[in-house]
Amino acid sequence: MMLDETHDPQARSWLADANGHPEFPVQNLPLGVFSTTTAQPRGGVAIGEHVLDVAMISPLLSGDALLAAQAMSQPTLNALLALGTEPRRALRRALFALLTDAASEAKVRDALVPLRQCTLHLPAEVGDYTDFYSGIHHAVNVGRQFRPDAPLLPNYKYVPIGYHGRSSSIDVSGAEVIRPHGQIKRQNDAAPEYRASERLDYELEMGVWIGARNERGSPVPIETASDYIAGLCLLNDWSARDVQAWEYQPLGPFLAKNFLTTVSPWIVTVEALAPFRVPQPPRPAGDPAPLAYLTSGEDQASGAFDITLEVHLRTRRMRDAGAPPQRLSRGNMQFMYWTIAQLVAHHTCNGCNLRPGDLFGTGTISGTDPSSFGSLLELSQGGRAPLQLPNGEQRSFLQDGDELALSAYAESAGRARIGFGACVGVVRSNSPSPEGSGSG
Ligand code: CA
Repeated sequence: MMLDETHDPQARSWLADANGHPEFPVQNLPLGVFSTTTAQPRGGVAIGEHVLDVAMISPLLSGDALLAAQAMSQPTLNALLALGTEPRRALRRALFALLTDAASEAKVRDALVPLRQCTLHLPAEVGDYTDFYSGIHHAVNVGRQFRPDAPLLPNYKYVPIGYHGRSSSIDVSGAEVIRPHGQIKRQNDAAPEYRASERLDYELEMGVWIGARNERGSPVPIETASDYIAGLCLLNDWSARDVQAWEYQPLGPFLAKNFLTTVSPWIVTVEALAPFRVPQPPRPAGDPAPLAYLTSGEDQASGAFDITLEVHLRTRRMRDAGAPPQRLSRGNMQFMYWTIAQLVAHHTCNGCNLRPGDLFGTGTISGTDPSSFGSLLELSQGGRAPLQLPNGEQRSFLQDGDELALSAYAESAGRARIGFGACVGVVRSNSPSPEGSGSG
């Protein structure tokens, strides 16, 4: 992937709050959907503490950039995603030019809306959502709780493991996390009961926005698979571990996972992330090489991303006391066993067709030690070792009132740091009892 003028770390905008912004400097320009009290949902680009109403400045554009800007006038970005790489890149370069050229300020200023006045929406209508299991340390940590001697199943190092999730319950950061009820078997010899989950967890994942379609019956070769990816976001695959433990065999996750999936509102494009591509970390000695349809020299050389991932927790008591959120972990996207291009190539290797606006979850991304574990299931060792919080509270799993925030940023020497925006949810009880008496 080529770097161009839009990655210049010295570039500055006439919009002062964009310069040095920790997430949205002019080198980022992530794509989203926003509305205000007076404007219906439409496409926008985050810049500093503002959102640029892209359709509004389309008279200043031409060619591919104009095509992309017009596609952003809609309440979802599916049409933009369907245009593929070139119009998206042309729009990025055109917006970068407008936002860095002082002579353009007078023409663009009126299209900037303060971020605090915006409601942010899911950036695209998600046709299909697929959740992978690419975080090998997570797979080992969780597998060890069930199979101490053989935590990884024999297929793991050959098959990018995944399952089809549910799109209706995908929502954007800020969506309330309603504690799910489900079948829960509390003791080995007891019958399951229908009750509120007591082991509600989060999963730290990256989301992958698909930006092109392949025809059914036409696998996407690994060599071109990255062209099918528009960008990344944060993704929290909320999970009810007690429901999961009882239901997951033989077909895999179902109601433990599909009550809510939260994503950050911005599609951070692969163009913006180009400076942070890194080689896929080598497989440990003795691991099998990926099969040929998953192997490309270019992908192995630059298919991983150096993106720092963090999780913060703020309990209700911490909020009430004005205490800051507590960091639970800091990891990196490089802990994935597969590249996102390998996920695309594998997903389509049987001829399955992807569509613009499809969303992948990478799977929980955990590192090698607890400081980078991406779920409470791992951090609390399945609930056996509760976390101690600074104010004396303990957590094995999430309690009502807990605010859980994922964050991500990419930074490296000689590059402008870019971030992903918020991916937050506050847990609340589903107060009516399962029987509907309203007393629970
Ligand atoms: Ca997951």
